[in-house]
Amino acid sequence: MKRFAAVLMSLVMACVLFAGAATAESFTGIFEEWNPDAPALNALIEYVEDVTDEDSPDYIPPVDRIATFDMDGTLCGELYPTYLEYYLLARRIFADPTYEPDEEMLEFGRILRDHALDKSFPDHMDLLHAEHAAKAYAGMTLAEFAEFVTQQLARDVDGFEGMTYAGSFYLPMIEVVDYLEENDFKVYVCSGSDRFICRTFIEGMVDIPYEQIIGMDVALEATNQGDADGLDYAYTGADTLIRTDKLLIKNLKTNKVLQIAQEIGRQPVLSFGNSGGDTSMHNFTICDNRYKSAAFMLIADDEERDYGNTEKAQGLREKWEAAGYHVISMKDDFRTIYGDDVKKTGTFHWLEEFADREETGITADNPYMQSAIEEAYEGITHQHGGPFGAVVVKDGKIIGQGHNQVLADNDPTCHGEVSAIRDACANLETYDLTGCELYTTGEPCPMCLFACMWANIDRVYYGCTIEDNALIGFRDEAFDNLLNGREQLADYLVCVDRDACLELFGLYKEMSHTLY
Ligand SMILES: [Zn+2]
Repeated sequence: MKRFAAVLMSLVMACVLFAGAATAESFTGIFEEWNPDAPALNALIEYVEDVTDEDSPDYIPPVDRIATFDMDGTLCGELYPTYLEYYLLARRIFADPTYEPDEEMLEFGRILRDHALDKSFPDHMDLLHAEHAAKAYAGMTLAEFAEFVTQQLARDVDGFEGMTYAGSFYLPMIEVVDYLEENDFKVYVCSGSDRFICRTFIEGMVDIPYEQIIGMDVALEATNQGDADGLDYAYTGADTLIRTDKLLIKNLKTNKVLQIAQEIGRQPVLSFGNSGGDTSMHNFTICDNRYKSAAFMLIADDEERDYGNTEKAQGLREKWEAAGYHVISMKDDFRTIYGDDVKKTGTFHWLEEFADREETGITADNPYMQSAIEEAYEGITHQHGGPFGAVVVKDGKIIGQGHNQVLADNDPTCHGEVSAIRDACANLETYDLTGCELYTTGEPCPMCLFACMWANIDRVYYGCTIEDNALIGFRDEAFDNLLNGREQLADYLVCVDRDACLELFGLYKEMSHTLY
């Protein structure tokens, strides 16, 4: 410990005076996101130096250098306001136009939504979540599921500025993973979260290969397997693998130990976690081990840079130290958590983001129009502008959405269609939306119609007609008459779900609003 601090000091003073300097240089390169005097970090370095030294009695051959890491709260954040996989399931239930949750699933979604902010989840929420998640994603191919996860990961993290879910890793802990791998440790993730979520999430961000990622598991099956047992069905070239609703294991507590034994087959020598779900894995690592071993617990005590709780964390510190674990304080030990450009905002949009689909009381037949209606509803409830929402769809997926913000932005060009086009182009990093279709609650005005054409959108589906727009006081018809109507556009402009959109207009009419 002391040597590390001393070595750093020597570097700061640019006085390389003793033999340890070369090692220290590599540490300053590796552990830039840590405070160099962090006790847990120094304990780890001391440990690794000892067990990798062939002359040490504590030497561990590389084949037995197994390190296991929990994921949520250990490698990445989990307090904005809850676990990544809970967020994903809420997105699936409330915001995925390709999925229609049944009443029971919606009810679970509401529990997930309403109890996340104050962490007042009901008992056994982990298992309840796992069962519902298994059901909600059943029937998706592994590729479809990975694509769904990737799409959600690209969204901005609630409660922060400057960070997407994909980038919500604890930078100091990534350094630990890299450091261990450089010292010939084999690093496994052993997470309570869905294995396939973990794989997609970790890929490209942390250098841990797919096969070293263990998590909650559901049974898979071949596309054409039907009710047949895997033993009675031969996989063919026409098959792919899909998720079923059968939960195999929720990988927490002792289940983590069982999975480590099943999948790794070796007792770890290092274990990293942050909660009661990890103590079993820790105890399995540090008790009755023929090698020198160690376990580390992060405590979420940073209230300034993250949503930690100093008081609760202090209680956990005492508990973990009494159990023989090293404690990592995010507040004191991490120089940065997510990176210097990431700022905690202190406000969540969680409840707003997952407002009940049924809140509008409107059901469209077309799922994309349903999303456009919900987008419009968000706009009118916040008095951003008229009842116009739009989504841009490519290959069956919504790639951009927006609503009328004329009043909110004092921008007469910020119609729903324009907002959605801007969002889609930003998301895809292109100005060309060839291959896309746009759904809008009201037939586009001339400006938006030509904006769709400038963007090369293939076709526009609208709900209410230009005449309907006039009924709630908008001037589209007057502009349209300048252009001698739009008969020649019958193939380009297609009316769907007019009744549902008329209901939306009805809601708007009942609200107090400003016309423009
Ligand atoms: Zn318009």
